Amino acid sequence: MDCKKYETEILDLIDAPSGPNGAPLADHAAARHIAGCPECLTELNGMRATFAAMSDWTAPEISPWFDGKLAARLREAQQAQPEGFFARLRSRFLFTSNLQLRPIMAGAMAIMLAVGGGGYASFVHLHPSVQASATVQDLQLLDTDATALQQIDQLVDDNSTDDGNDSAS
Ligand SMILES: [Zn+2]
Repeated sequence: MDCKKYETEILDLIDAPSGPNGAPLADHAAARHIAGCPECLTELNGMRATFAAMSDWTAPEISPWFDGKLAARLREAQQAQPEGFFARLRSRFLFTSNLQLRPIMAGAMAIMLAVGGGGYASFVHLHPSVQASATVQDLQLLDTDATALQQIDQLVDDNSTDDGNDSAS
């Protein structure tokens, strides 16, 4: 069977014109195969249903307390951060020559700016009734990535060393 061969083309046919049973009307090899192959046709219609369900899906309402709690956490985190930490991290990010690290730094900055150094973890633990969103779960995964955090710490340390050298020379 040619099913394997046309597997990747099924995606392209999701929005293409189709007959009453969902068979693609286009006139090329992939469309002809799928129109005449019950398995591929089932696959195509299944994908259509999945995409339709996804576009109908709306995010669930979050707890009415979420915004207030998050704002409080952000204030706490801002007060807890040493002066100039973000400024130093930001300049390191903007002027670093290590292009590979840029996305990591950008992500790390976004996380730290958003949650203030792990405050979200205690937030989630304090409020187990609040369903952790996928984003929060991602953040928790990142939080446990000690290596990445260590690298960022080293960068910040490097930065303060650079500053020292600059002012000395
Ligand atoms: Zn097939």
